[in-house]
Amino acid sequence: MSRAALRLRGKVALITGGNTGIGRTVALAYADEGADVAIAWIAREADAASLVAELEKRSRRALSVRCDVTREADVQALVGAVIERFGRIDVLVNNAGIQKPQALTETSLDDWERMMAVHLRGAFLCCREVAPAMIRQRSGRIIVLTSQLAYLGRPRYTAYSAAKGGLATFTRALAQELAPHGILVNAVAPGLIDTGFDPLPEAAKRAHAASLPLGRLGTPDDLVGAFVFLASDESRYFCGQTLHPNGGEIMP
Ligand code: NDP
Repeated sequence: MSRAALRLRGKVALITGGNTGIGRTVALAYADEGADVAIAWIAREADAASLVAELEKRSRRALSVRCDVTREADVQALVGAVIERFGRIDVLVNNAGIQKPQALTETSLDDWERMMAVHLRGAFLCCREVAPAMIRQRSGRIIVLTSQLAYLGRPRYTAYSAAKGGLATFTRALAQELAPHGILVNAVAPGLIDTGFDPLPEAAKRAHAASLPLGRLGTPDDLVGAFVFLASDESRYFCGQTLHPNGGEIMP
């Protein structure tokens, strides 16, 4: 794409959980659209390092920070590092997440608390720490990863569904609060995306794919359009909305 046509030229994006899966694909897509990219991750350092190399190969500036999004001090240090390196933050993607399907009766209090913390506390802390910079800029985009399970729920996914349902409502409330500052908050609620995030057996995945109107599972590449759109000027009249790339499983 010609430089003039790049939709995120000169923008700075921060993607939590950017080293793998959906976040990694979005990071590369944002770089292809002209953005400099910072990523946060917690464990898979080698993936973060290889992503930084790929971003720099695209002649973009890249920053990789180990950060547990549930820890206030980590998130403050992350946002401080991004501002120090790039001077601004235009796009925040709240993508960090965990999965642990299990029956309610087998769910420990620690499992429940961790699920809520990574998704809800993590998004709260990241948004709270990034918002002052976006308010100063009088512009910004915040994209929240929810899930179709925020709408459907599913047996053995009660904690995850509750956390994502909380994020869906968080998105709508924050969108109203930050819109007067020129900051647009929207969500993406994917269906099952084949990243290894969900430990479903292969046979169950195949059955699920066959049940979808589009007849296949999603891939991270299937989501790129939604993420680039919500980060770009093209979504300037979208506020508190959710895009549902899910192969037709639900049609809200
Ligand atoms: P991945 O497992 O590839 O990505 C999860 C990311 O979150 C990893 O980068 C991981 O870092 C990071 N992470 C986990 N815990 C923390 C933490 N405490 N602090 C910072 N980072 C953390 O899965 P996906 O790419 O599939 O999932 C990304 C998001 O998309 C999640 O929010 C998930 O809920 C959502 N989603 C996924 C769907 C799917 O079917 N795959 C469907 C709908 C929504 P590290 O690699 O270092 O461990």
